[in-house]
Amino acid sequence: MPDVVVVGAGVMGASVALELQRAGWSTVVLDKGDAVGGGSTSASSAVVRFGFSTEPGVVAAWESKHRWEAWADHLGLPEGGTGAGPLARFHRTGMLFLEPAGFPRGLFLGLLDDVGVPYELFDAPGLAERFPSLDLGRFWPPHRPDDEAFFDGPDGALDGWFTPDAGFVDDPQLAARNLMDAAVRQGTEVRLRTPVVGVAVTGDRVAGVEIADGSRLDAPVVVNAAGPWSSGLNRLAGVEADMAVTTRPLRQEVHTAGAPAGFGFGDGGTVLGDLDLGYYCVPRPDGTILAGGVEADCDPLEWVDNPDEVSPLPTAELFEAQVWRMARRVPGLAVPHRPTGLADVYDVTPDWLPIYDRTSLDGFYVAVGTSGNQFKNAPLVGQAMAELIGACESGHDHDTDPVRVDCHLIGRSLDLGAFSRNRTGSVTSGTVLG
Ligand SMILES: Cc1cc2nc3c(=O)[nH]c(=O)nc-3n(C[C@H](O)[C@H](O)[C@H](O)COP(=O)(O)OP(=O)(O)OC[C@H]3O[C@@H](n4cnc5c(N)ncnc54)[C@H](O)[C@@H]3O)c2cc1C
Repeated sequence: MPDVVVVGAGVMGASVALELQRAGWSTVVLDKGDAVGGGSTSASSAVVRFGFSTEPGVVAAWESKHRWEAWADHLGLPEGGTGAGPLARFHRTGMLFLEPAGFPRGLFLGLLDDVGVPYELFDAPGLAERFPSLDLGRFWPPHRPDDEAFFDGPDGALDGWFTPDAGFVDDPQLAARNLMDAAVRQGTEVRLRTPVVGVAVTGDRVAGVEIADGSRLDAPVVVNAAGPWSSGLNRLAGVEADMAVTTRPLRQEVHTAGAPAGFGFGDGGTVLGDLDLGYYCVPRPDGTILAGGVEADCDPLEWVDNPDEVSPLPTAELFEAQVWRMARRVPGLAVPHRPTGLADVYDVTPDWLPIYDRTSLDGFYVAVGTSGNQFKNAPLVGQAMAELIGACESGHDHDTDPVRVDCHLIGRSLDLGAFSRNRTGSVTSGTVLG
């Protein structure tokens, strides 16, 4: 019998398995899919940025950035990762924030100052000089292209702030595989094509999981790392009703267009959080730019009941909304004639912060609610969950005295109480910004 069953072989399940196994817990990972990282992780834009609306959000992202930069070391490989097969890579492009009217810049920059994340402020002329291929007009509020106001403006010029250390990981599924391979080297067992259909309970405690083929895998600890399917598993465990914060799947699209000269990868391009026009974009090594959404008021949220029923194909409507907005900002963009990109699903909480916590069922833990913004934190989340599980299983009362996780690369600690299932009234951006 393993010490722990982790449900989900995405980037979170893989990281949790690695750190549990390192901490001495024998771990089995179960996934209903046929590939590690084949769930929502495979669709991730994998942006690594630091503009979060809470201190724990910034601490987690800043520590994790250092882990992505030292990826081979994080995986326990010799320098360069020789012999372990291909490794995912963090690319440092910087990230420019273009804000909407009324954005609480002071809050965001104050948190960056507090944690020690470098940034540069640009006034409107400075921004135009630094990013000559962008149209830096102020277009806010965002519109859909079928609204005549879409073509209005601009009304003045934008200033902005730039974090030079931001960037993206070039292959999120490979990153999950790297973590899982490292876990397997430590002794983790992975079983794919293994749907969990029930949670076994004895008394007040989890006893294992029930599998679709009718078998049962006993374990004293179970971790829900089921991504957009997390709420279904929480219901099977009977813990959802006891959580102040729950999770819900939200459909999302990401599109691609051709990068113009002067704003491509390695050619002046940067990650752009364009809240003025209502999208974000990422210059990719293959010469494209990827665009995603930021929950602009004009874009209805598409909640779904069953993530398995979401088509992976992008729609013409959302493609036009996101790519045309990007084309206003990046005038040389090569816009394809038909929708290119993909659709997938976020696992969203009401405040867009994740839940890394125990539950009301002893031994049943959750690393869920990643809200479209936690890929970047996966290297730290494994350690956080391993420390949380170690503490709770030794009798520590995490609910009243939250575990703090050592972020050794930046000399800070992370207050896991911020990601409690019991939190109430946390004030955040209420969007994918977190
Ligand atoms: C389009 C998109 C863009 C994103 N962009 C960014 C970004 O730029 N930056 C960032 O930081 N984050 C981003 N995110 C968020 C980030 O990618 C996710 O938070 C992260 O990948 C979630 O990983 P996970 O392991 O929790 O979930 P998943 O990768 O979905 O893994 C969950 C796994 O659980 C398995 N599973 C579920 N239920 C069961 C069951 N009952 N039995 C067995 N197996 C089960 C599934 O098959 C799946 O493989 C984005 C997400 C999406 C969808």
